[in-house]
This record gives sequence, structure tokens and C-alpha cells, in this order.
Amino acid sequence: MTTPTRRLAELRAPEVAERVSERSIIVQPLGAVEQHGPHLPFDTDLVVASEVAEATVAEVGDALDCWLLPPLAYTKSNEHAWSSGTVWLSATTLLAVLDDIGRSVATLPARKLVFFNGHGGNSALLGVANRELRLKYGLITFLAHPGMPVDQGGAGSANADELGMGIHGGTDETSLMLHLRPEHVDMSVATRNVPEWMAANRHVRFGGRVGFGWLSNDFGPDGHIGDPTAATAQRGKELFEGSVRSFGEALAEVAAFEL
Ligand SMILES: [Zn+2]
Repeated sequence: MTTPTRRLAELRAPEVAERVSERSIIVQPLGAVEQHGPHLPFDTDLVVASEVAEATVAEVGDALDCWLLPPLAYTKSNEHAWSSGTVWLSATTLLAVLDDIGRSVATLPARKLVFFNGHGGNSALLGVANRELRLKYGLITFLAHPGMPVDQGGAGSANADELGMGIHGGTDETSLMLHLRPEHVDMSVATRNVPEWMAANRHVRFGGRVGFGWLSNDFGPDGHIGDPTAATAQRGKELFEGSVRSFGEALAEVAAFEL
């Protein structure tokens, strides 16, 4: 009996040797449980990362031999520590958890591990973990995002009113949630919150050459940064389908990638 699944946790033990091979790709989604302003739910990053990963692996999993792990819900969200309801791991805890995941994945026949990260606050640490796991367990490790975060050089939304600063609960993220979980979005309390003074800076800005440590309440008490008022479910659908397409393309390159 073969379980018709691409979710690793749904296999029975003997199926690992039968179905997981050296060319298999393990996909680990990472979300977050953190405040997303007054209009979006705490699980926004978890929903987006899980849904895009599920849809992508459903599409290309058989052809590319991908296996989906359950999403990691709690991650490094300390920029939202001020907001009760945010549940976060410290940097040292998350690094230790990622090491444990790598150690466990390394017992599989698979050699490639892809972190699919829905929360920008994790990216720097995931980059560190990628190298640690490469050295320690010999895995070939990758980091992908549903959409490249604006504060890490991502293009950001097409909404010019965001001034390139739709980094948290803005047009794109709110659109995605209007597509994926419309019943959990309250557009009646969505407001534009963009730190306009920063747009004049050439270097010290989100995604600029000079980074800075920030907390989400540094930009006002609401906790989101961007313009959710321009969000639509149609835009969310297009973003979602675009993310699935580009993650599928990326996984094809991961499959062919050798070191
Ligand atoms: Zn988010």
C-alpha cells in the first residue's frame, strides 16, 4: 500500500526507504504568530507560507520529488514582542530548532532542504542556518520566500502610495489574505501607515544600503507598515498564483542544483 501524499508526515515508516530518495527535496515552511495591525490575523505569515507551499508541492511535487514538512508556526517575531498575542522564539532558540530540523532531515535519504519563509524577520537567521547545516550535516540548503521582503531588496507592491515601504500588513499581504482568508480580514479598520519621512533617504531606509534595527511599534501604535486600504482579493489571487509559479520554477532549479 502506497500513501498518495507529498506530505512527509503522512508516510508510514517503511515508506521512507521506498519513496524518499537521494534526489528528493524536503520543503520546510516557516510562518509566524505575530500581530499584523488591526485588520489582519496573527497567523497571516503562517497562512501565506503554508498555502503557497502546499499549492506548489501539489503542482510540482511528483515531477521534482518534493516532500512537504508541517509548517513551523512559531519563529523569530521579536519586533512584535510589544503586542500581546504574538508568540515568538528567540534567535538562539530558533537557530537551535533549525539545527534540530536539519539533523533530523539528514537521517532521510534526501540531501536537499528548502526553507520556505513567510516572515521577513527570520530571513537573516535562516541564511546563517543554511551554512551551519551545510557544514554540519552535509545537506544542500536553500532559502525561498513567497514574496521577496521589501526590506531585503524585494520590489514591493505596485501601489506607489506605499513609497516602497509595504513591509508588514500592507497592500500585498492584505490582498493575499483577502484571497486566502477573507473571513479573517477586517477592512473597516484598515488604515494607511507609511513612515513618509524615510522616503527622502537614499541609504538609510528599508532595503537601502544601510540597515537598521526596528520594532514594529517604532512607526506608530497600530503595528502595520504600509497601505492596506489599496488591497483587493483579485490582487491577492494574482500574487498567490505568481508565488506558486515562481516557487515551482525555483524548485526545478533546486532539483538540478549540485555542489
Ligand atoms: Zn506578515
